[in-house]
Amino acid sequence: MDRLFIDVKSLAQIIKEFLRALGQKHTYNIFKNWYCLFGIMWGIPIPIVTIGIDFYSSRIPVTLSHIIKIMLANPLHFFFFLHPIFFGIVFGAMGTVRYNKQQKIEELDRVKSNFLSMVSHELRTPLTTIQGYISFLLTEKTGTINQKQRECLKISGESADLLNHLIEELLDLSKIECGGFKVHLARVDMLEVVHKAVASLQVYAAQQEVRLENNLPKDLPPVWADQERILQVMTNLLGNAIKFNRKGGVVDITASGPRKEKVAFSVSDTGMGIPEDKLDMIFDKFYQVDSSGKRKYGGCGLGLAISKSIIELHGGKVRAESKIGIGSKFHFELLNATLAPRP
Ligand code: ADP
Repeated sequence: MDRLFIDVKSLAQIIKEFLRALGQKHTYNIFKNWYCLFGIMWGIPIPIVTIGIDFYSSRIPVTLSHIIKIMLANPLHFFFFLHPIFFGIVFGAMGTVRYNKQQKIEELDRVKSNFLSMVSHELRTPLTTIQGYISFLLTEKTGTINQKQRECLKISGESADLLNHLIEELLDLSKIECGGFKVHLARVDMLEVVHKAVASLQVYAAQQEVRLENNLPKDLPPVWADQERILQVMTNLLGNAIKFNRKGGVVDITASGPRKEKVAFSVSDTGMGIPEDKLDMIFDKFYQVDSSGKRKYGGCGLGLAISKSIIELHGGKVRAESKIGIGSKFHFELLNATLAPRP
C-alpha cells in the first residue's frame, strides 16, 4: 500500500513536470532539442503508411488530388497526418524534462562547490590564527611553560595540522570540480621530490613502525611535472602506504629506467590490501574501503581522488593492484623530460 502510494506520488510528479515542459519554448525548438526532431521523424511514417494502404487497396495513382480525395473520404487521415507534430511535442517535452533536470543538477553542483570553497576558506582563517598562537606559546615569549603544557600544545598543534590538511583537500576538491585546478609543468627531479616526501613522513613511519625504502634508480631522468603537486601525490601515496601497513612493514618506492618516454613510478606496501572489487572505487571522492563508524584510520577519502586528478592533468594515469593480507601497489606515470616534449 505504501509502495503504491509512493508510485502514485512519483507518477503525479512526472505528469507535473511533463505539463510544465509543454509550456516551455525549449520543447518546440528542433535546433536545441533533438528529442523534438526525433519525435517528428518518428511520426512521419505513420501518415505515409496509412494513406499508402488506401492507395494500395484502391490501386489509383498517387497524385495530390487523389490524396485530398482519400483524406476527405476518411477524415481519420487528418488525425494520422497530425502524428509527426504530436510525437514531436511529446518527445520534445521529454527532452525538456531531461534538460530541466540537467540544469538543476548543474545548479546544485555550482552551489555545492561554492559552499565547499566558502566553508573551507572561512575555516582556514581562524585555524591559521590558532596555529600561529600555538607556535607563539611554544616559543615561551609570553612566559615559561612546563613539560605538561608543552605536551598539550604539541597535541593541539598536531590536531590543527590535521584539520589544515583536511581543509586543503576540500579546497583542492572544489577547485577540481569548478575546473580551476591547474598544474605548471617544468623539468622536475623526482629523486628530490621523493627525498622530500620521505623526509616529511619519516617521523610518522617510525611511529607506525614501518620502514621506508627509496629504491629509485640513481640515473632517473627529469620528468615533466608540477613539483608541488607531484610532491602532494607522492606524500599521499606514501602516507597511505604507512597508514594501512602493519607493524614492522615496509614501503618501497621504485621507478622504471631512464630510456623510456614514460617513467613509471610505484609505491608498494606490505599492509592489509584492498579487495579486488574496490580497486577502482578508491579513486572516487570520499570513498573509503572501511567507512564504518568504528574505522580506526583517519582521513576523509579525498587524497586518492585528488592524486588521480593531478596525475591526469600531467597526462598520466594512476592505478592500483593489491592482494588482501599481502599489500598494495600504486603506479603512476610521468613523461620523461629528456625524451618527450612538454605536454
Ligand atoms: P583516506 O586515506 O583519507 O581515507 P584516500 O583517498 O587516500 O583517503 O584513500 C581512499 C581509501 O583507499 C582509503 O580510505 C583506504 O580504504 C584505501 N586505501 C588507499 N591506499 C591504501 C593502501 N595503501 N592500502 C590499503 N588501502 C588503501
